[in-house]
Amino acid sequence: MLLQFDIMEKKVNIQKVVRQHLEMEQFFTGFSLKSKAETHEQHDKEDSMAVAEKAVELEKIAEEVNQCRKCDLGSLRTNAVPGEGHPHARIMFIGEAPGADEDAQGRPFVGRAGQLLDRVIEACGLKRSDVFIGNILKCRPPENRDPRAEEIISCLPYLQRQIEIIEPQVIVALGAHAARTLLNTTKSIGELRGQFHEYYAGIGRPSIKLMATYHTAYLLRNYSQENRRRVWEDMKKVLAELGLPTPE
Ligand code: SF4
Repeated sequence: MLLQFDIMEKKVNIQKVVRQHLEMEQFFTGFSLKSKAETHEQHDKEDSMAVAEKAVELEKIAEEVNQCRKCDLGSLRTNAVPGEGHPHARIMFIGEAPGADEDAQGRPFVGRAGQLLDRVIEACGLKRSDVFIGNILKCRPPENRDPRAEEIISCLPYLQRQIEIIEPQVIVALGAHAARTLLNTTKSIGELRGQFHEYYAGIGRPSIKLMATYHTAYLLRNYSQENRRRVWEDMKKVLAELGLPTPE
């Protein structure tokens, strides 16, 4: 019995020595004693905290947008459309401006063009809640006219801040206005689509891959097999960039 106790004592002591040794090693090398499960748990917790913080920051921007009157569109809208989606989305879809349905509901891409975008997202094997969807302008231009330069200048900082918070790996610019604005170019969507560009994210920040493709509203108006194939080719490149499988 005594012997057994001695052995147990020794076992305890060995564990203690090993732990002390590891603790010293951790002190000098930064090696963690935590089990993999503990480490994953902590990472998950940290990730969800980061996502929660991003959600709070995005909500602050949405509140600012909802109060904004920086350009004339502020007094013409029914609802501002700040954008919505996952606070740490890997993909951000950016269109031009809200239309009538979006203005009525205060949500982006909810009309027919939005339903088609939902189908594109689903075809990629993703859900709408996995991505973030927004626009260059947060308020609807009357009769869906093109955004004006002064409106873009007033509104763009909101989107730039959203991109800074979300830190997507890929931005998909839907249509010429979004692509030209985000890439600061005058090239046509035909020239821009089909290849990755670099979105300049600000001093000290890594640039973000940007894929330009047709706006789903354009696709609805020009619903040819060729145009659908082009959009799908663009999206397949996005999925490959993200290391995601391409559904058949
Ligand atoms: S379009 Fe943008 S800048 Fe103009 S009022 Fe709406 S939120 Fe403000």
